[in-house]
Amino acid sequence: MISPPFLFGTLNEALKQKLNKLGLMSDLDLVLHLPLRYEDETRLLPIALLAAEQIAQIEGVVTAHEIQTRPRRQLVCQLQDASGTIAIRFFSFYPGQVASWAIGKRLRVLGEVRAGYSGLEIIHPKYRIAEKKLPLPVTLTPIYPIMAGLAQQTLSKLISQALAYTGRNKLLVEILPSAILKTHRLPKLAESITFLHHPPAATPLDALQSRTHPAWRRIKFDELLAQQLSMRQHYHQRRSHHAPALPQHPALQQKLLDLLAFTLTAAQQKVVDEISRDIAQSFPMQRLLQGDVGSGKTVVAGIAALQSIANNYQVAVMAPTEILAEQHLQKFTSWFEPLGIEIAWLSGSLKKQQREAALQKIEAGIAGLVVGTHAIFQSPVQFKRLGLVIIDEQHRFGVNQRLALRLKGSGDTAGVPHQLMMSATPIPRTLSMSYFADLDVSVINQLPPGRSPVATKLIDSRRRDEVLTRIREACRAGRQAYWVCPLIEESEVLQLKTAMETLVILRETFPELQVALIHGRLDSAEKSAIMTAFSQGIIQLLVATTVIEVGVDVPNASLMVIEHAERMGLSQLHQLRGRIGRGADAGVCILLFQRPFSELARKRLQVIFKHTDGFEIARQDLLLRGPGEFLGTRQSGVPLLRFADLDADGELLDIARETAETLLRDYPQIAQAHLDRWLGEKKDYLRV
Ligand code: ADP
Ligand code: MG
Repeated sequence: MISPPFLFGTLNEALKQKLNKLGLMSDLDLVLHLPLRYEDETRLLPIALLAAEQIAQIEGVVTAHEIQTRPRRQLVCQLQDASGTIAIRFFSFYPGQVASWAIGKRLRVLGEVRAGYSGLEIIHPKYRIAEKKLPLPVTLTPIYPIMAGLAQQTLSKLISQALAYTGRNKLLVEILPSAILKTHRLPKLAESITFLHHPPAATPLDALQSRTHPAWRRIKFDELLAQQLSMRQHYHQRRSHHAPALPQHPALQQKLLDLLAFTLTAAQQKVVDEISRDIAQSFPMQRLLQGDVGSGKTVVAGIAALQSIANNYQVAVMAPTEILAEQHLQKFTSWFEPLGIEIAWLSGSLKKQQREAALQKIEAGIAGLVVGTHAIFQSPVQFKRLGLVIIDEQHRFGVNQRLALRLKGSGDTAGVPHQLMMSATPIPRTLSMSYFADLDVSVINQLPPGRSPVATKLIDSRRRDEVLTRIREACRAGRQAYWVCPLIEESEVLQLKTAMETLVILRETFPELQVALIHGRLDSAEKSAIMTAFSQGIIQLLVATTVIEVGVDVPNASLMVIEHAERMGLSQLHQLRGRIGRGADAGVCILLFQRPFSELARKRLQVIFKHTDGFEIARQDLLLRGPGEFLGTRQSGVPLLRFADLDADGELLDIARETAETLLRDYPQIAQAHLDRWLGEKKDYLRV
């Protein structure tokens, strides 16, 4: 009988379903299901030489056998080899086991040795009858990630079978050019995989466990290479699309710069130049602008927008919250109105008539700039000629929203508009090199001059009175303060209730101050009235839910109190704190915490207390949470890495990036074959 070339197709449905639940859909998935750890069954240790806490394999004859009932029911046996005796204990056991452990039986036992009441013992070992001479395996025994309903042994056998098939079906045939493998001292793929499933007895366990063994390097390299190939392929493909070329108009740009009360920092200027050069090209820019909170991204967006409008192409600016969008509206109005540019405003809360009017201005091309929330892409907006899309705080938008935005008709625009995404959540280098490798990345790594760093204080909420005194003093001295209410993840209603109670208490405490509350449930007119009053200094103390997290810019506010800071994430704390220290006065951020809190919360508070640099905070955050959590489900249209660890494998990532470029340029078929192998049907995942 000729066996089919792949194992998976021969399995019965029930088994396949179980495997699917583990994410295993094919032979390749099976052979890439790598062990979690290994057991060493390649040698037998003499009982007399055992020590506590050692994992050991022994073989001997049962010399004593007793079912005790006190202090609890248990089976206690003695196993003896030529060197000595050890106790073996079972707390739960069935008749078959009792029979296996009869006196005189010969057994091979694997388990952890512990110091028991009366000498060394092993509890609930793995064991096998050893009546006939059992050969010792010559390789370490793999222990695989499993799940209920699928036994370790079943899976182990399946994987070995699948491995045996790969020779015949060429599943793991070497794809990569040997020169590349040689340069980077990488072993062959098939060898590496076989090795990791069945490492020879002498392999050092820690090189396997820490995944630094060359075989592991090869697997991780292949995975990173697939990611790089896919991202860089998208990157290069985009350049074959068409976009309007929007050359710079220096005179108009100078007019805008003259309107500003400041000169650009060197970092801002550099980024302005990068964007300006990009959008002058006839293929679409997709650039991610990263800059810490307060680094001045908005004005960079303004200059880019002007360049598009100067070429008679419209610009859409989208912000994740109404408060932020409205603030942009004000800022852009102050810059563009003097230049005679019309602005349209679109938000979810517009009245029908206002919306119609705005839509008309956009469609007719009268509005050069459109500012708004995601309403820009939800309502039936038709641009006349869209040249540039700017997305502020891009990480707050879901993948779908960003996609909708990209697909949005761009009117008469030949091709697709340019895209500028801005983010104040800095992305650590390795992460941006991997998950954002399909974008160009610009960084503003400098704050405008004259900012004094915010002092951060950690205060136990039992010392709240001291904090109140500080607020009174600050406001008396003409400054303003934020009071940020706790995040209550379980319930928005509860969060609002807490915020309202806080408002009442603070109003009673400070009868001499104007205290107001802002939260997400207010309608936009109310929100806007409150924010305006706060920026004009009419309101001195602003109680807020986390709606003020993103982008809000009121320079005179220099004090911030955050309640239950131990509940908040690092980037949220960093964003909140970024609201202060924007003006001439040194900012103070008070993090009120309440015990008890988790170890993770303690670490977060430590990081935010110690660091003010957003990139460092992001790096620490990535270490604490891992890339999956860090990127969030919203962010990841991209499959996460399974084997490579961005923190530990930065060097491999560099090699993968370089190799990806080489392959795409010189060996496109190899690049494609590698992509097919590693990403299969996943290779066309969305990039937006
Ligand atoms: P973010 O990068 O967080 O979006 P903003 O664009 O809101 O920062 O800028 C923060 C503040 O810094 C604003 O008040 C802005 O007017 C001011 N600003 C921006 N660039 C400069 C600069 N080069 N010099 C002085 N102040 C600046
Ligand atoms: Mg901003």
